[in-house]
Amino acid sequence: MLSEQDLTIPNSAKQGMDAILKGVNRFETVVFPENREYHEALVTQPQRPQALFITCADSRIHPNLLTGTRPGSLFLIRNAGNIIPPYGSGGASGEAATIEYALSVLQVKNIILCGHSHCGAIRAMLEGKLSDEIPSVRQWFTHTESVQRLFGTKKPTDITEDDVILAAEENVILQLAHLRTHPAVAFGLSHGELNIYGWVYHLGQGKVYGLNPASGEFTSLQEEEAIPLPGLRSRRKGPVR
Ligand SMILES: [Zn+2]
Repeated sequence: MLSEQDLTIPNSAKQGMDAILKGVNRFETVVFPENREYHEALVTQPQRPQALFITCADSRIHPNLLTGTRPGSLFLIRNAGNIIPPYGSGGASGEAATIEYALSVLQVKNIILCGHSHCGAIRAMLEGKLSDEIPSVRQWFTHTESVQRLFGTKKPTDITEDDVILAAEENVILQLAHLRTHPAVAFGLSHGELNIYGWVYHLGQGKVYGLNPASGEFTSLQEEEAIPLPGLRSRRKGPVR
């Protein structure tokens, strides 16, 4: 439950940190004791997450709140723009290592790649504002270059929220393609042991849209059953040699 305090914008570093420490204190004295049995079970049994959830670092996205899940349910990758570099690009990355660990060690069977509306990084990309002042972001966003090419750049005043959502959708489709280049993902898909999904969360509306492989459109998750996206060799029968 959100309180008025949760929505207060801290006007100093100290005020922000005080609110966080108050939250830690509440967790230690109220939340953890009330759910002691559940939290203790998390360390007495191996973790078995239901999904690898990949999303943007944006603070307004709360994967557990969004999916009605608790600690232990989602293995997470978060970064600016929910980007997955193609396998092998620039050597090992945190994203590659986390995907590999989730699939090969934890035996995760679902991957959800979730973009979102109102994405500051996507808007900056559309505005051509990934400048020299943020060189790491600019370099990171070379992994979205196809989306940038598709949309070109516009004046900030000409960019609507619909443009940002469309670009966020295209970026999810592109990053799903990158995801498929990771050997553990390709292997899992080809053996029918892994399902992957592309979502876009519309902030402020409380709605999640999923990529429908039949239509190629993002449609409300409430309107139909989630359909996993096909893999590279998903129609292949029999063992892969
Ligand atoms: Zn974002």
